[in-house]
Amino acid sequence: MENGITILGSTGSIGRQTLEVAESLGLKVRALSANNSTGLLEEQIRKYKPVLVAVYDERAALDLSKRVSDTGVRVVGGPEGQNEAAGHSGADIIVTAIAGMAGLGPTLAAIRTGKRLALANKEPLVCAGEEVVRTARECGTEIIPVDSEHSAIFQCLAEVRLQKDEARLQNLSAPHPATAPPQIKKIILTASGGPFREMSRAELGKVTPEQALLHPNWKMGKKVTIDSATLMNKGLELIEAMHLFGVAPQQVEVVIHPESIIHSMVEFTDGSTIAQLSNPDMRLPIQYALTYPERRPSPVKPLDLLQIKQLTFEKPDLDAFPCLRLAYIAAEQGSEACAALNRANEEAVARFLNKEISFYGISDIIQEALKSIKG
Ligand code: MG
Repeated sequence: MENGITILGSTGSIGRQTLEVAESLGLKVRALSANNSTGLLEEQIRKYKPVLVAVYDERAALDLSKRVSDTGVRVVGGPEGQNEAAGHSGADIIVTAIAGMAGLGPTLAAIRTGKRLALANKEPLVCAGEEVVRTARECGTEIIPVDSEHSAIFQCLAEVRLQKDEARLQNLSAPHPATAPPQIKKIILTASGGPFREMSRAELGKVTPEQALLHPNWKMGKKVTIDSATLMNKGLELIEAMHLFGVAPQQVEVVIHPESIIHSMVEFTDGSTIAQLSNPDMRLPIQYALTYPERRPSPVKPLDLLQIKQLTFEKPDLDAFPCLRLAYIAAEQGSEACAALNRANEEAVARFLNKEISFYGISDIIQEALKSIKG
């Protein structure tokens, strides 16, 4: 903790909240990276004083380096710049909060440093989960998930990690075992259901990007907010969970839990289920990934169960939300199908945001992409 942290994707929603958490924990910020949001990045440079900053867009990098020439920060551009920031020697925790597949190279570069990886970028796990997990195992890198559901599962598995059996401890000290420990029966992945939970198929066919961007519980970036509206976010998280915890797709059950208080659960073979609860606030899983195994005070509002009164659960409607069904199909098919699913989804979400396709255009495009893998 003395050295500090690097944040890849520092101008996005998770990146900004990570800076806030790092500041409250008194961590030094060593390197930052962004795609092209140089206005915000300049503010972050002046406030947090990193030694290295990477901007993916080369022209924006050049422009920024002129604007901050008085600060002494080194600005690098292009994909190599992102990898350089990931590998920067000054940090002992690297947070990857890049959106989409662009994060794969930097994620692998971060893993190769052998330092703790706080992983918030889900697509590298979805598309190249085997490679990510194998590299982490080879480099002895611990991956602490930042995604709230996976952080919850990770927290529910604390006792499993504590087991005295040395071999098992080795296997589970980093949260990426080859296969799940036998006492785990299943993972119950909770989903808020998104803004359209109660809509019919006919109504869903007409929803606009503006409506989809209004998430009831979580403040997030655009891509993940649309994914949350289609339930593809839960599909990607299912694949993420398989890689992080070594479970099979049929061992992951998705349950709609509109209150977003239980962030996920683990059911054990003895019939016990352990859950992690909190108010929905990403600063909690971010902080846990930075301080693990310690817990520190945080600004997150504690639960008031008497005010919440009840927690409810529903089965997801796979006819109204076909993206989740498609994710289960891809998860069963294997890594090539998962990569195709993710690629098609990234393209389709961009087109939906651009108003080129309808809500169900997204699942149609993904279904076509999966068909081409089968054939
Ligand atoms: Mg999540």
